[in-house]
Amino acid sequence: MTTSRGFAAPQAKDALGPFTFERRAVGPTDIHIDIAFCGVCHSDIHQVHDEWGGGGIFPMVPGHEIVGTVTAVGNEVTKFAVGDLAGVGCFVDSGRTCRSCAEGLEQYCEKGMVATYNGRDKDGQPTYGGYSSDMVVDEAYALTIPKSLDLAGVAPLLCAGITTYSPLRHWKITTGQKVGVVGLGGLGHMALKFAKAFGAHVVQFTTSSGKIADAKRLGADEVVLSTDATAMAAHAGSFDFMLDTVSGEHDYMQYLNLLKRDGTMTLLGVPERPAMLHPFPLIMGRRSLAGSLIGGIAETQEMLDFCGTHNITADVEVIAMPEINAGYERMLKNDVKYRFVIDMKTLPA
Ligand code: NAP
Ligand code: ZN
Repeated sequence: MTTSRGFAAPQAKDALGPFTFERRAVGPTDIHIDIAFCGVCHSDIHQVHDEWGGGGIFPMVPGHEIVGTVTAVGNEVTKFAVGDLAGVGCFVDSGRTCRSCAEGLEQYCEKGMVATYNGRDKDGQPTYGGYSSDMVVDEAYALTIPKSLDLAGVAPLLCAGITTYSPLRHWKITTGQKVGVVGLGGLGHMALKFAKAFGAHVVQFTTSSGKIADAKRLGADEVVLSTDATAMAAHAGSFDFMLDTVSGEHDYMQYLNLLKRDGTMTLLGVPERPAMLHPFPLIMGRRSLAGSLIGGIAETQEMLDFCGTHNITADVEVIAMPEINAGYERMLKNDVKYRFVIDMKTLPA
């Protein structure tokens, strides 16, 4: 066992504060990572606030956008050596026997993936995430990080990056298609960058007038303030595909109506409460409403390599660990451009 330092919420909805806990010793296929940066995903807030039902596991150390340096390797490790950069995303293990795992879609493991935090490892112990000094992970669930990229900007790729890359690949987004991105936060700004990199005409939807200029700087071909009914109506029936990254309750139907016949809207955001949905926007135009969960290990590596080749990282605001509670407050006001990333050097001793 090794002792790790982190920040935890003692109980649901509590503020986060310093917390010391044990991690397992490095096993034969494990690597030990000194964490350099951890991104702050809105899923961290949903889970600290226990908004998704099922009962969160507390004390909770959030964080699943993890990058750092390998400091020890087990004697069967082949992918990493001491001194390498490594990343960890939303899960640290899975059943490894089902069809989804065999197809590299571990996030849909039929036995359930082992979440990086707020989960139970195979030994029944709670998992603790990346708002911490270091971690131990099986090398099969760790990612290789391109050396050319800014490390703080890489951290959000481990969740916000793969969560948006995967559906854009699955629905085969390519040159000439019209793609809408709903919500310009951590996921939204990565969706915008990837959809542009894949050649689409991208329209960014936002509720924040203060983000319009930035959306254009990030590459959007058009930006629509979703509270402007006239601007929304101008896009009716015109989209091939839409990605909805919104974390709070909102009306899906106003976006479904913007799809072409046979268009698809894929939901990524997970608001606390269920939404109202009338069948008409789907029936009229044979439209589809879908969902997508992060991405598998192989596709996450593909995404990181793509980012290395195309020089893509997240736009980040680096914060100190003790600033996390203020960071959550700002995220709940849609006030982050576009991902907070915690510098783990600032973790109190
Ligand atoms: P974020 O950085 O806080 O961004 C969310 C954005 O949604 C906000 O910046 C805001 O954009 C918009 N928004 C928030 N509340 C709204 C409301 N009530 N009505 C309309 N727009 C609203 O969050 P994130 O980290 O990108 O995460 C987004 C969601 O995806 C969360 O629910 C998270 O749990 C979920 N998620 C899902 C997966 C998956 O695998 N499916 C993975 C990671 C995260 P504007 O200011 O532009 O309007
Ligand atoms: Zn996340």
